[in-house]
Amino acid sequence: MNKNSVVAKKKFGQNFLKDEAVLRKIIEAMPKNDNKIVEIGPGLGDLTRFLVDVKSVEAFEVDTDLCKLLQSTFKKEIDTKRLHINCGDVLQAWQSSLIDEPYDLVANLPYYIATNIILKALADPMCKNILVMVQLEVAEKFCATAGEKVFGSLSVITQSIADAHIVVQVPPTAFEPPPKIDSAVFLIRKNADRNNENFEGLLRVAFKQPRKTLMKNLSVMYKKDLLQVAFLELNLTPTIRPHQVSTQDYHQLYKKII
Ligand code: SAM
Repeated sequence: MNKNSVVAKKKFGQNFLKDEAVLRKIIEAMPKNDNKIVEIGPGLGDLTRFLVDVKSVEAFEVDTDLCKLLQSTFKKEIDTKRLHINCGDVLQAWQSSLIDEPYDLVANLPYYIATNIILKALADPMCKNILVMVQLEVAEKFCATAGEKVFGSLSVITQSIADAHIVVQVPPTAFEPPPKIDSAVFLIRKNADRNNENFEGLLRVAFKQPRKTLMKNLSVMYKKDLLQVAFLELNLTPTIRPHQVSTQDYHQLYKKII
């Protein structure tokens, strides 16, 4: 098999990034540091080719056909230890840390598990920065600020330990085969290791029914009189909706009601 005879497999979310200008933008946006690079889903190796020029790379690819192809394409880089390829499902390989040294995740992610991968990377203390291509809608959720309609638990989880912004929006024509939706590359720069799990539990309850009031959602789990005092102290009106409360106020609320 060679690169040109590969047929993209839908079940693995294979949309190969062909636009060289976008590949260069990803490289330019990489944080400057000594961390190793982890690439999830190197695919045909188009992004990998740029990455190994800059740093050493630990890659995870589930598709055994692509794994074999990558092993022959990158024989020299593998021999010189510039690249190491793990063949298999990254989610199965992922214990509390994916590798045992500080790393930045740089990848064009398989969209069907992109949110799950980003949440795992956020909780992984060895992961320091995340620069990934995902569905535009998903990138917007991670980067939203309080008050925006799409501001939700993903935004609060991210912004509690990092700052996040969209680097570039990418149209379907940049890929082969083109996906049906727009994509975006976004960057998360972590400034703390991970969130408290109980805090994430509060967020799940807070955003369970996004159109209802925050008070209504939280009273399923927490005592109403405790909530009323906390809301009053934080100047939150009883009718406020979950997306209208800032990350900082969620932390204050957590301190007062847990
Ligand atoms: N990086 C390549 C590019 O930019 O052209 C390919 C990106 S493609 C959107 C996603 C890649 O992730 C595919 O190569 C796919 O086989 C791989 N993949 C899908 N699920 C995976 C998993 N669970 N573990 C590791 N790799 C996975």
